[in-house]
Amino acid sequence: MICYLLLASRMASRYHSLSKLVEALRHCDRCPQMHFSPVSGGPVSSRVILVGQAPGVREPEAGRPFAWTAGRTLFKWFSDVAGVDESSFRATVYMAAVCRCFPGKTAAGDRVPSRIEIENCSSWLDAEIALLTPGLVIPVGKLAIAQFIQPVPALSEVIGQMRTTERAGKRFDIIALPHPSGASPWHRIEPGKSLTRRALELIRQHPAWKNRTRLKQLTPRRTEEEKLTPRRKDAKEEEE
Ligand code: SF4
Repeated sequence: MICYLLLASRMASRYHSLSKLVEALRHCDRCPQMHFSPVSGGPVSSRVILVGQAPGVREPEAGRPFAWTAGRTLFKWFSDVAGVDESSFRATVYMAAVCRCFPGKTAAGDRVPSRIEIENCSSWLDAEIALLTPGLVIPVGKLAIAQFIQPVPALSEVIGQMRTTERAGKRFDIIALPHPSGASPWHRIEPGKSLTRRALELIRQHPAWKNRTRLKQLTPRRTEEEKLTPRRKDAKEEEE
């Protein structure tokens, strides 16, 4: 009983620190070329972190990462192989990204963040890893994989495998996924299709993945106020 109370107290303290970190992140304006506002999945106290690339044009409005077509594919993968639906995933996995702001468009599609923007935003990822001490990190797409493996190997050499790495003073496993956007057919044709499925199987079997719902039960619930992005907060205040 005492152990449970100590663990619950530690979880509440971590959640409080994480909430403050996410609140600061949501007001970050370090990169002048990025479109405000930063997108966060919220202060989900989890030992599993998913790292996306950068939000698209729809995500800032929706106020959450992977809110559009790539997200539909990503959550279908997890639903089909790992047996978890989108709302359960969002409630039990901390969702980070290489860059948290929409970079804008170019003639070829979404602008790829610059090296300086990636460096600016990597300090948020360091702080999140230091606080959450993840057991498992899931980088999604080459830009995210590059945050953990250098030089970045071909997708067929990294997807479907588990590696162990260190960052921000923490040691954790990484199981990478390809980017689920419709722009790349890699995950729809062989060997990408089988390797993606193998990666999802590895995630499903990982101890940090299996335990994430247990930690969720010890985490305080987010208030409605905490769920609002700065943009939505402003709109709410104007309504009032
Ligand atoms: S991309 Fe990251 S570092 Fe740059 S303004 Fe957005 S949140 Fe801040």
